Amino acid sequence: MTEQNRVAIVTGAARGIGAATAIRLAADGFAVAVVDLEEAAGKDTVEKITAAGGRAIAVGADVSNGEQVAAAVERVAAELGAPTVLVNNAGVLRDNLLFKMSESDWDTVMNVHLKGAFLMSKACQKHMVDAGYGRIVNLSSSSALGNRGQANYSAAKAGLQGFTKTLAKELGKFGVTANAVAPGFIATDMTAATAERVGMGFEEFKAAAASMIPVQRVGVPDDIAHTVSFLVSEGAGFVSGQVVYVAGGPLD
Ligand code: NAP
Repeated sequence: MTEQNRVAIVTGAARGIGAATAIRLAADGFAVAVVDLEEAAGKDTVEKITAAGGRAIAVGADVSNGEQVAAAVERVAAELGAPTVLVNNAGVLRDNLLFKMSESDWDTVMNVHLKGAFLMSKACQKHMVDAGYGRIVNLSSSSALGNRGQANYSAAKAGLQGFTKTLAKELGKFGVTANAVAPGFIATDMTAATAERVGMGFEEFKAAAASMIPVQRVGVPDDIAHTVSFLVSEGAGFVSGQVVYVAGGPLD
């Protein structure tokens, strides 16, 4: 990999885990495309990166829309260079018990997490295969093991693990690795929204979660960014098709 193709795309990078990952990869020396639903939403992350001397652009795209994904990846290739690192992080929740879960709650979650990762990976793999080098990281979740109120989300996050292993098998011969990171509880707007949904204050919700975690704290976005940084590094070329749980302890 030459200097000019150290280009990474991070989806859902306007905030939370995606923003921390984009900032970390920029510090690692990547030019970073900060992809989120609205281009303007990515401005903050881009400003943090450029203020620290890094290179980044904000790109607006809905990852579940094939045309927008194709246009976004083309724009990144034209403005930053061929993307050889892709972090599929964009995500949404539509939690509900099965009997109350609507068809649209199901479709939205499947479309953003699963179809989004498929479309982004498909659009980026050509650049990676041409470069003979690539790194794909998909955000799974501890919910892949099953979680009450998340039939849609746990199915999507478990699906991403199968997707990741298949990409690892198909793309390995082109120098491309694919891995999944499965976070446990990470303090972000997403978990704050869950606290609100169950009628708890966020501090109380975090304290309750921390008491169940072996390291006795909840995760922060940098815990995930650090793991992604390793998986997309050149030295991690023999690590592929793995699911790394980052949850402060083992999970049942
Ligand atoms: P977050 O704070 O809600 O951020 C998610 C980002 O994704 C938002 O900026 C959101 O944009 C964007 N996004 C949503 N739909 C999109 C779409 N169709 N196209 C492009 N961008 C889209 O979430 P997070 O907590 O950082 O989570 C990041 C990833 O980690 C997700 O895949 C999540 O499932 C996974 N994860 C999180 C946790 C946790 O505890 N936080 C645990 C396990 C796994 P808008 O703001 O416009 O909606």
